[in-house]
This record gives sequence, C-alpha cells and structure tokens, in this order.
Amino acid sequence: MSDAFPASTAALIDGKAFAAGLRAKVAIHAAAFEAQSGRKAGLAVVLVGEDPASQVYVRSKGKATVECGMASFEHRLPADTTQADLIALVDQLNADGAVDGILVQLPLPGHLDEQAVVERISPTKDVDGLTPVSTGRLALGLPGLVPCTPLGSLMLLKDRLGSLSGLNAVVIGRSILVGKPMAQLLLGESCTVTIAHSRTKDLPQVVRRADIVVAAVGRPEMVKADWIKPGATVIDVGINRLPPTETSPKGKLVGDVDFAGVREVAGAITPVPGGVGPMTIAVLLRNALVAAYRNAGLDAPSEL
Ligand code: NDP
Repeated sequence: MSDAFPASTAALIDGKAFAAGLRAKVAIHAAAFEAQSGRKAGLAVVLVGEDPASQVYVRSKGKATVECGMASFEHRLPADTTQADLIALVDQLNADGAVDGILVQLPLPGHLDEQAVVERISPTKDVDGLTPVSTGRLALGLPGLVPCTPLGSLMLLKDRLGSLSGLNAVVIGRSILVGKPMAQLLLGESCTVTIAHSRTKDLPQVVRRADIVVAAVGRPEMVKADWIKPGATVIDVGINRLPPTETSPKGKLVGDVDFAGVREVAGAITPVPGGVGPMTIAVLLRNALVAAYRNAGLDAPSEL
C-alpha cells in the first residue's frame, strides 16, 4: 500500500504490490510443500473453445503457477466438446493425485451446462470456490475454498484497516462470483453488511452509510464522489473497457467507481488497473497451495 496522492486525497491501495507479496509467500511455501510431501502442488486449468480473452487468462494462470514453483496442467478442448467428454475430464482430474486444484475457465460455450460442470468438481479441489459445497461452507463459516476475487478484496481491506468489526459495509452487486461471497466474507469479519443490486432503491443514499464500499457491478464509473462517506474505504472490483478514443486507441480500462472524483472524498481506494485485478491470480495460486496442503493431510501455513 502507498500514499501516492497528497493528504487531501485518498490513499492508494496497491493491489499489485500486495499480490506480488502474496505470490512470493506462495512460492516459499510451495517449495516447502514439495520438500515435505515429495511432489509439487498442482493446478489444472481447463479451457473449452477459442475465446481470445479466456485464452489470455489461461496462459497467464499457467505461467503464474509455474513461476511460483507449482505444476501446471493445461487442458485445451475444442469448442464442440460434449458435456459427457468435459465431465469425464473433470472426473479424471478429480481422481488424479498430482492435481490439487481444478479451474474450469468460464464462460463455457453455450451448449454446455456450466452449473453441472462446476458441481462435478471435487470440493477439495475447487480453487474457484464455486461449487455448492464451497458456497455452503462459506455461508456456514466453515473452512473451505473461497472465490479468488472477493478473498483478494478482503485481504486488501484487512491490510488497510486491520479489524473490520462493526464497520458498515455496502457491497454493490450480488453475483455468485463476487458480490455474494464478498458479503459473506465481510459478515464473517463482523461487518454490518448491506448487499445492493439493480433493484436497490436510492443506491447513493445506501452507499453513503458505508465505511467500506465494494463495487462489483460492471458499469463504468457508476459510483460517484457524492455517494461516498468522507474517509470510507473503496474497493473497486469492476473492470470495464471504454470505447476507443484518439488518446486511448484500445479503449481506457476503468472500474465501477469514478476514481478521479471518489479519491477526493474516500480515505483509501483501489485503482483500476492495479487494485483488485492482480489479487485474483495471486489468490488462485494461494487457494491451489492451500488445497494441496489439505489434500496431503497437512495444515496449510497460517500466513497464506
Ligand atoms: P455480474 O454481471 O454477474 O453482476 C453484476 C451485479 O451488479 C448484479 O448483481 C447486478 O444486479 C448489479 N447491478 C447491475 N446494474 C446495477 C445498478 N445500476 N445498480 C446496482 N447494481 C447493479 O458481474 P460480476 O459480479 O461477475 O462482475 C462485476 C464486475 O467485476 C465486472 O466489471 C467484472 O468485469 C468485474 N470482475 C473483476 C474481477 C477481477 O479480477 N478484478 C473478477 C470478476 C469480475 P442484479 O443481480 O439485480 O442484476
């Protein structure tokens, strides 16, 4: 974390630096795991079809896995793969002792039943934390694997604020991937949690109560400065690409928060890019290593 702006503006929560630190810890413990268990921790990533964005994600996940000393198993299947063949691959990975984590890159091509595929993943290898068992364990407050983006957001909040107990938190968005698990994690930290969504009445007024705002909406720069309680901590999960302009031919990447305005009011804020984004892969690696320890019958290191 760094205070890159003058005193009147919010501190910048540096997710890139925090993620680099987490990856370094994962690398140290991945080496220790290998020494202790006699094998590398392993993460399998399954990609179906040719979606260019998914191909980039899968490549970078594989590279990051190897960089921190774990084994990466990439399975690339054609776009016309059948449900039965995909389920058979998941079953094979569930049974493979070298594989500790299984990630099926979403979205899947339209003819495949995404929910059925995710449900087939063994909860002990569910590094995305999306199976009903993982979701249920999170709701019950039991140990399990938690979705990477919300867990990464929580790590940034705890690093910034220490105890979150008693704080008012507003999560904007109720997706299974981000909003709902984020709310559960904040509740687990004894925040008073409000989940807002597209039907919420007077959203600005709801957000104004928040000591912590987590925006996971998918609408560019929606959260404005006059929605923010002075000094609040703002976590911007959104990743949106604006239309190309002359100065930004690829289209500028922005979050769900009007960064320029909100940073004048908030106490701390994550930038986009460089905030929550880098945490997602770092936590995926962390989840894979935690799964490896548990699958080997060992306690996962507490600093992970
Ligand atoms: P979803 O589209 O699944 O969910 C969006 C949520 O926002 C829904 O709950 C929806 O409400 C709510 N919403 C939509 N419009 C409004 C509005 N006008 N006011 C209030 N709430 C609204 O998105 P995700 O949760 O998957 O992702 C959210 C954002 O986070 C996206 O920009 C995505 O790219 C980004 N993301 C970033 C990641 C990272 O690594 N940093 C990882 C995952 C996502 P309702 O349920 O009522 O429709």
